[in-house]
Amino acid sequence: MNRRRKIYEGKAKVLYEGPEPGSLIQHFKDDATAGNGKKHEIMDGKGVLNNRISEFIFSKLNNLGVPTHFLRRLNMREQLIREVEIIPLEVVVRNIAAGSIAKRLGLEQGTRLPRSIIEFYYKDDALGDPLVAEEHVTAFGWASPQEMDDMMSLAVRVNDFLSGLFTGIGIQLVDFKIECGRQFEGDMMRIVVADEISPDTCRLWDIKTHRKLDKDVFREDLGGLVEAYREVAQRMGILTETENALSTGPRLVE
Ligand code: UDP
Repeated sequence: MNRRRKIYEGKAKVLYEGPEPGSLIQHFKDDATAGNGKKHEIMDGKGVLNNRISEFIFSKLNNLGVPTHFLRRLNMREQLIREVEIIPLEVVVRNIAAGSIAKRLGLEQGTRLPRSIIEFYYKDDALGDPLVAEEHVTAFGWASPQEMDDMMSLAVRVNDFLSGLFTGIGIQLVDFKIECGRQFEGDMMRIVVADEISPDTCRLWDIKTHRKLDKDVFREDLGGLVEAYREVAQRMGILTETENALSTGPRLVE
């Protein structure tokens, strides 16, 4: 199906060479993975939803002047992005205790943190993405002190934007992960938000019922992952009722 040159294949996405130098095509697969790939299933329709949700968020960030790698969506599963040099860190922002911080520090799930907390994890599957301090990041040269500052200010801006966006649609933003990249333009380099932002990379709870609307549905075998992601997309106003109905049944060939 794809005659383009594949640059990289990850757990949930594939990157292909783009139509012009400095661009790539980011393709969203239906694969759901957890526990560093130990748990793996195909979830029909997840890739399409994440492509749309991520497009929505990245376009708004671009419009707000938060630099990202996103250029435009190409089709149901693909978007055109700028080629960047990915910094090997997962930047996690937490507003409410859940997941690994709750376990590590013995906090009750759902407790509001005294303030938003930013953490860095070193991206290395073999090591299970360990939590690292700024000391490790700069000592090992994964990012410079200036780049750390840039990533933290991007993370805060993304958190402010996403918190407002989700509160407005009755969803609590518990935590999320971003990845950043170096974008080179001539002699200039800037740090931009890369990868994706979707229910795969955020913890999202319904404000009233606390129902989980994110990848924890899969991690915890709660069932109805695609339905939960579709609910998020619908509340964002991305999917109309018609599109929603079409995506579940047989599709018309145009
Ligand atoms: N996260 C992610 N990719 C990862 C690890 C974490 O997108 O490889 C997201 C996760 O969905 C959550 C946040 O980062 O929104 C914090 O995750 P945590 O450290 O609590 O780890 P988890 O409990 O998900 O293993």
